[in-house]
Amino acid sequence: MQCPRCRSQYTQSVKIAYSQAIRTGESGYTTISEFGRSLEPPQARSEAGVPLGIAFGIACGSMLLLPAVHTVAPLPWLAGLSPFDTPVVVVSIVLGLLAGFWSVVSALVHNDSVHRSEMRKWERGVICRRCGFKFRRR
Ligand SMILES: [Zn+2]
Repeated sequence: MQCPRCRSQYTQSVKIAYSQAIRTGESGYTTISEFGRSLEPPQARSEAGVPLGIAFGIACGSMLLLPAVHTVAPLPWLAGLSPFDTPVVVVSIVLGLLAGFWSVVSALVHNDSVHRSEMRKWERGVICRRCGFKFRRR
């Protein structure tokens, strides 16, 4: 394939150039060159770690904040409760699960649509090893 910028024939698939830029040492530790880093494939969104963190964060935040909510909203059943009282804990867990579930679904949808098409574009990528110009195979 010819580079559209410098007309060189010294071009290579981005996918292959990327895999060649990764070196695995004897200890199993992988390193990647600066050049390889510039060719990295688009990252998929986390479908587990981030949603788990969000669920945990929302649940903890809710436990801390719920006992104070009755001072700003007409929810008298919350008055006098501490963060570790059962109603607060139950509501907080439900809110955390809802937030985590929403986060998983939005990651799945993103990875199935946006990320999938980004990957297809990345896989068609070609790089000129002479001038570094990146272009796409048709
Ligand atoms: Zn070129």
